[in-house]
Amino acid sequence: MSIDPAYSGGIEILVRGKRILLDPVRMPESKPDIIIVSHAHRDHYNIKVLNSFPDATIILSNETYNLITRRNRLKSKKIIKLEENYIEVEDIQFEFFEANHIIGSRQVLIDGEIAYTGDICLEKRIIFNPPKILKANTLIIEATYGNPLYIFPDRKILYRKILKKIIRDFFNHGKAIVYARSPGVAQELIKLFSKLKIDVYVHKAIYTHAQLYSENGCNLNRYYIADSLNEEGVYIYPIWFGKNDEGLGIFVTGWAAIEKEDRFIPLSSHSGLDKLLKYVEESNAQRIYTVYGYARKFSDILRKHDFDAISLW
Ligand SMILES: [Zn+2]
Repeated sequence: MSIDPAYSGGIEILVRGKRILLDPVRMPESKPDIIIVSHAHRDHYNIKVLNSFPDATIILSNETYNLITRRNRLKSKKIIKLEENYIEVEDIQFEFFEANHIIGSRQVLIDGEIAYTGDICLEKRIIFNPPKILKANTLIIEATYGNPLYIFPDRKILYRKILKKIIRDFFNHGKAIVYARSPGVAQELIKLFSKLKIDVYVHKAIYTHAQLYSENGCNLNRYYIADSLNEEGVYIYPIWFGKNDEGLGIFVTGWAAIEKEDRFIPLSSHSGLDKLLKYVEESNAQRIYTVYGYARKFSDILRKHDFDAISLW
């Protein structure tokens, strides 16, 4: 028996008197018994919040643990790094599934009834396979791009577009510069560019994340740390590096969907609106909770499609 999810610093669910907190980023009003971190993006965990509850059980994938603890120490006495996809904690069943968002990202099915997608990408990517659509009575789904403005072209078309632009910039200028989020699309691009006979240089943060991908069975081939822009090649920098770019760099992110210039390309680690709708339809969920980004807009759209949907955001 569970009580409706609510948002309190993270997504809070009460199951048989136990408080489960998903992806906390601020202090919740009540003390959680179990905390789940779906993946290692900073908008899904906060180290101070995680360390404020040393008696809570923290559940996360091994890769997420490795990413989070590169710079921080987790103080919880009970940390479960997932070895199996199925576990029971406090008599509650948890089943974890790949989310195809970044290395280590997971969806979770709680007691076979409540599904949480975390951040998700439903498409096949050059580095990961499409995730499973979870069947559940209650679905909590991310809505980062739950807006008609964000229906992305087919991934193969976007891959071709990026490669064409890279090759053109390389022949015209001896280099191409790309901005993308890391961990995430930046590592997907390393793999994509390994098809070209052009050296790939990456910012050191992207390099460190890429090594973690390789260590966990996602081989990205050849890439080097970028010391300067002096070598001929393609350079990949974090998206925030591009804020002073005056026209050479290519921005690869879902947010690019609303830009007109052809150097903005909407390849994302998230699903666009059409895929989010597909997820909801195929999940057979009776009740849908939307969270993150365009959560309100997406819940409005779902209600117009006759789903019982509400925003947690
Ligand atoms: Zn994310």
